[in-house]
Amino acid sequence: MWHDTGSYAGVLPPGIPVQPGTHAENPETKRRFKNLLEVSGLYQQLHHIEAYAASEQDILRVHSRDYINRIKAMSEEIGGDAGMLTPFGKGSFDIAKLAAGGVMAAIDALLDGRIDNAYALVRPPGHHAEPDTGKGFCLFANASIAAKYAQASRGVGKIAFVDWDVHHGNGAEKIFWHDPSVLTISIHQDRCFPPDSGDMCDNGAGAGAGYNINIPLPAGSGVGAYAAACDRVIIPALHMFRPELVIVPSGFDAGAYDPLGRMMMHSDGYRNLTKKLMTAADELCSGRIVMCHEGGYNDATVPFFGLAVMESLSGIKTATDDPFLALFEGLAGQELQPHQDQVITAAEKLLDNIRG
Ligand SMILES: [Zn+2]
Repeated sequence: MWHDTGSYAGVLPPGIPVQPGTHAENPETKRRFKNLLEVSGLYQQLHHIEAYAASEQDILRVHSRDYINRIKAMSEEIGGDAGMLTPFGKGSFDIAKLAAGGVMAAIDALLDGRIDNAYALVRPPGHHAEPDTGKGFCLFANASIAAKYAQASRGVGKIAFVDWDVHHGNGAEKIFWHDPSVLTISIHQDRCFPPDSGDMCDNGAGAGAGYNINIPLPAGSGVGAYAAACDRVIIPALHMFRPELVIVPSGFDAGAYDPLGRMMMHSDGYRNLTKKLMTAADELCSGRIVMCHEGGYNDATVPFFGLAVMESLSGIKTATDDPFLALFEGLAGQELQPHQDQVITAAEKLLDNIRG
């Protein structure tokens, strides 16, 4: 919570004509998510996992020595910018090591049998970070670092990513582009962020050809489109790939009313997606799912999306209902629309490229 993104106005650096403001990626959504877990009584029933700092050796499996040194040096002074739109303050190097290590600790707890599944509520987020640069508020690629750790140090073989953040999971795509042992799936708003990224034709290369799946849904997609994409592309892909572990970079910025996305998901939509993924993981890999927090920028709504996911993962339904649900269910176009169906039909063809 002490990772400081400074006085950006939304996503833009301050400076005439942009008045200093609050950065879109600030602690508030995360803090309120945790607060709601406590108020609902769910937090007290969960097993808590202490994060540890990822070592530089762990980070080096994904990022270049140059990049790590650059972030470390800036962090020791007053901070700086890790890349495209990624400001950070003094000390963020150590916080980012904890964010990556938090996902690693979750995987440790899962593999050691201490828990059935996990949600790593970490910050800064990670899914836009690339080997040589930070990007989109992300310093280190938390989920990718944890996946490489699981393979290198914990004996895990094949891993599947299902990134449901509204923005493209470009980091994992790039990191595992040539790697057939990690299936990277990203469902996102078409051409939202990063620029020129996340097209359906980007499918991996070399030995990794076929093992990167992008599902770029049109702006305005609702729970129907997300459920259909999950049923028709994501779940079949998981069954063909047969992962030993599923990692979900979980952004809640596909939620209705998010300032940085234009989708219409609601808490029951996230609840249902979680259940679908859990069923597949039960059938394929003893239920092994680790989610890690990414985007989500509406302070009021994100906690309720998070609570719905946590209720599904834990199997505990609290007495706390989502006060936004009725409003979001009533938005026109929640069911699958023909132009969204076309995209999903095209994405179904990518299943032919998975060799299992
Ligand atoms: Zn996002």
